[in-house]
Amino acid sequence: MNNIPSLFGSMVFSDTVMKERLPEDTYAALKRTMEAGKHLDPSIADVVAAAMKDWAIEKGATHFTHWFQPMTGVTAEKHDSFISPDQDGGVIMEFSGKELVKGEPDASSFPSGGLRATFEARGYTAWDPTSYAFIKDDTLCIPTAFCSFSGEALDKKTPLLRSMEAINREARRVLRLFGHENVKMVKTTVGAEQEYFLIDEKLYAKRKDMIYTGRTLVGAKPPKGQELEDHYFGSIKPRVMAFMHDLDEELWKLGVLAKTEHNEAAPAQHELAPIYTTTNIATDQNQLTMEMMKKVAARHGMVCLLHEKPFKGVNGSGKHNNWSLSTDTGINLLEPGHSPHDNAQFLLFLCAVIKAVDEHQDLLRLTVASAGNDHRLGAAEAPPAIVSMFLGDELTEILRSIEEGSAYDGKEKVLMKVGVHTLPRFPKDTTDRNRTSPFAFTGNKFEFRMPGSTLSIAGPNIILNTIVADELSQFADALEHAVDFNTTLQELIVKTIKDHKRIIFNGNGYDDAWVEEAQKRGLLNLPGTPDCLPYFKSEENVTLFEKHRVFTRSEVISRTELLLDNYAKVIRIEALTLIGMIHKDILPAAGSYAKELADTINAIRAAAPTADVAGEEAHLLTLTDHITSLYKKLAVLENSLPQTNSLESVEALAMYYKDHVLTAMEDLRTTVDATELIVDRRFWPYPTYGDLLFSVK
Ligand code: ADP
Ligand code: MG
Repeated sequence: MNNIPSLFGSMVFSDTVMKERLPEDTYAALKRTMEAGKHLDPSIADVVAAAMKDWAIEKGATHFTHWFQPMTGVTAEKHDSFISPDQDGGVIMEFSGKELVKGEPDASSFPSGGLRATFEARGYTAWDPTSYAFIKDDTLCIPTAFCSFSGEALDKKTPLLRSMEAINREARRVLRLFGHENVKMVKTTVGAEQEYFLIDEKLYAKRKDMIYTGRTLVGAKPPKGQELEDHYFGSIKPRVMAFMHDLDEELWKLGVLAKTEHNEAAPAQHELAPIYTTTNIATDQNQLTMEMMKKVAARHGMVCLLHEKPFKGVNGSGKHNNWSLSTDTGINLLEPGHSPHDNAQFLLFLCAVIKAVDEHQDLLRLTVASAGNDHRLGAAEAPPAIVSMFLGDELTEILRSIEEGSAYDGKEKVLMKVGVHTLPRFPKDTTDRNRTSPFAFTGNKFEFRMPGSTLSIAGPNIILNTIVADELSQFADALEHAVDFNTTLQELIVKTIKDHKRIIFNGNGYDDAWVEEAQKRGLLNLPGTPDCLPYFKSEENVTLFEKHRVFTRSEVISRTELLLDNYAKVIRIEALTLIGMIHKDILPAAGSYAKELADTINAIRAAAPTADVAGEEAHLLTLTDHITSLYKKLAVLENSLPQTNSLESVEALAMYYKDHVLTAMEDLRTTVDATELIVDRRFWPYPTYGDLLFSVK
């Protein structure tokens, strides 16, 4: 690995490669398309396709695929080979512009939430030239959007690109007011920190729950977990180190800027952080990162768990979405400025985010909702399900002084007048101490900490971009007509702080007192997925999405249904898996052990009639009590499972699964875990938490 610079991006049809391999005018036309988000001129598609194919074949590729991200969250691909018959009965390698630009996967079984049924059975994929093509598994992968023939988005990329367009448009309106006529493009940037677990493959293979659901449905807490905090940033075990090196190398080849790898809080838990990039590329790259983590782990005899909560009682895994806005002229719009003018602009963008987060708590909450993440949010290891914002004491104090027109009492007393005074300097490092906040300002970006580890970051970024775009559009409306710009700006900022400061909370988000306090402030508390998803299709939200052309009404409705349906299905699979494990493994194990205990007692009695077997008998009684309880609770769970479609709406169905099935599973699990603790290890059918968490050396 001594040649990282030449390795980096070697499997990417990058800007450098394009420049090298495309005729000058083709390159220029493609660049225009990429930068201005224009449609690709069909006449150049053939030229680009031919260059791509030659490059890919030189790199050993034999196939190509339109790589896309359906609404289910994973990525999808259908491989076609480049071969095409020639006239002499042989083959030639071919790839046309048409094949590059548009694909028609026979993808009718991807869930569409009912969208396609009413129009066309099939969807098509369309090349997203703003994200580079790459080679993976000897296949040229072309990042694409996936739409129905009537134009409805069937994927996560299309609305993401639309939301980036919305924020680009509105942010430039605001920047024009500050005299930045030269800014041609405002992009959102994202760095997604990814947490994961690594466990030994042989142990994983023994657990049906991990295989079917990605998490353990039973398992007693081991004597040692993460309480000693000796794993966090601890030295990395050799097998994990080998994995990390290999992973970095694979990711670098794909142009992913994997930067930091370290241990996380829980045993067997780790994190990877990339260097940030444009949002749609960051989203594609995070999907690739997750895929590579799984593949590379397999090469090392391990399994990478991306579930949000693989182990009960042990920290789950999240994905921190670091988000900011920057111009094509290189300015980070969330970087506090140095002059009064720059400060005013920073404060306005900051206020847009504050107002957006306060007004759209529902959207931010629901965009991270999933059956898996429900185990994490609010469990005193991850942010609570209540959305709030951390700005740090200094910045909060500055906002207060602006709001009240009073002096800011930092090192020196200053009266802040927006557009006239310079912001007092505040130390950056104090902004990142509070790890309990869902949405934290970390110096020059916001870190959204609610997403779970499996989630595609497309969803959260679609929402972030749209809600901030909407606030910027409102601000631009007000300021474009201002008679006195500075006065209007000052009033706007003061009013925004006054109206929305309730969302700012710098205290401990894990504290129970916060839940009470948040309620007093009128903040939303939506604990589970079925509680929050219905908010997606509220009239207010549909209007917002339609205004910025991010989602149509039918797209919003179909997505809500799809997500609720998915939630119900996940819980159903978990319940069926658990029921199977109890019948086939756990009850037989507990029964065999009970029989052995009974046989032992009888044998002792026969051999030594006066021996005291009270201990064995008491133990046997405890065990049989557990077994009785297992049978009872199993019946409750089995009876709780609804017949498919037996409820009037998918909303009601999801809620039913949460209130009845999930609770029955939890109740059953407590008894299984208590049983595990008293059963002879020779009988217990599964590797324990201790085995799983400390398996990788
Ligand atoms: P830490 O969270 O460990 O303190 P950093 O603050 O350096 O680390 O960054 C965390 C993540 O935030 C990284 O993925 C980084 O690339 C990303 N990041 C840094 N600056 C920006 C930005 N302007 N926009 C988006 N993401 C950013
Ligand atoms: Mg972080």
